[in-house]
Amino acid sequence: MNGLIYKVLRYTGIAWLWREIVQRNKVTFLLFHDMSADDAKRNLNYLNRHYHIIGLNDYLEAVRGVGKLPNKAVVITFDDGHLSNYKLYPIIEQLGIPVTIFLCSSIVGTNRHFWFRHSEAVKRDVEALKSMNNSERLQKLQTMGFSQEQEFEDRQALSCKEIEEMKSKVDFQSHSCYHPILPKCDDVTSREEIVVSKQQLESSFGLDIYALSYPNGDYSDRDIRVAKEAGYQCGITVDSGYNNLHSDLFRLKRFSVNDAKSITELMVKASGIYALIKHRLHKPSYGYKPSKS
Ligand SMILES: [Zn+2]
Repeated sequence: MNGLIYKVLRYTGIAWLWREIVQRNKVTFLLFHDMSADDAKRNLNYLNRHYHIIGLNDYLEAVRGVGKLPNKAVVITFDDGHLSNYKLYPIIEQLGIPVTIFLCSSIVGTNRHFWFRHSEAVKRDVEALKSMNNSERLQKLQTMGFSQEQEFEDRQALSCKEIEEMKSKVDFQSHSCYHPILPKCDDVTSREEIVVSKQQLESSFGLDIYALSYPNGDYSDRDIRVAKEAGYQCGITVDSGYNNLHSDLFRLKRFSVNDAKSITELMVKASGIYALIKHRLHKPSYGYKPSKS
């Protein structure tokens, strides 16, 4: 069904028109996660040909009045710090494009697991788990053989060595420590996740951490306050929409491309039209859900 929607939006020229008219003077943030090297090569090449890829820091500079933004400006982001992200390195180097990868600071460099990827049973229950209070979620995960600090046989995240190797070409930023749903955390845990992840990444890798990507795109006013107090300069959501020079820097919008498997899917999703139609139909898969916080 989705495949058909992508084709209709591409081959009728609607996605193209949307990109050239509506999207043209906006800043579009795109979200990827765990792409294979082949998909990354195809997708990043396409974006490089049809958009002007800018760094997250270029966008922030322009907001501060330093430098100008090109038209069809796109900021490319990856969340979590998956193992496969290391394969992006030669592609990024070859294309010479800026990319930001948001890391879970207590998972990278270890054999700890991303809780939502721990096992098939967890994956089946993932939506129910996301809706629980944080302590309740962790207790339930214990019964499913998962705990946050436990190291497993297989590695799911980037290693310290890989981050060290990539850090001159890749902008690494924070995605919390363990990827909780922040609005479901108590005040102490929310603060710890936001503050400690910045400290850990700065002290372990000598990075300048200025941006926070809210895990699962979920945030509350409290989490934004804590991020500001911790010294972040911006917070990235997965709320559908574009950004401009007057956007709220702690509610920056972003489209999830979800590791597009074809140029047609990528073209339609990167234009933003797909998520905006879904949003109109009240089917956003991510984003701020105030009633639950
Ligand atoms: Zn994430």
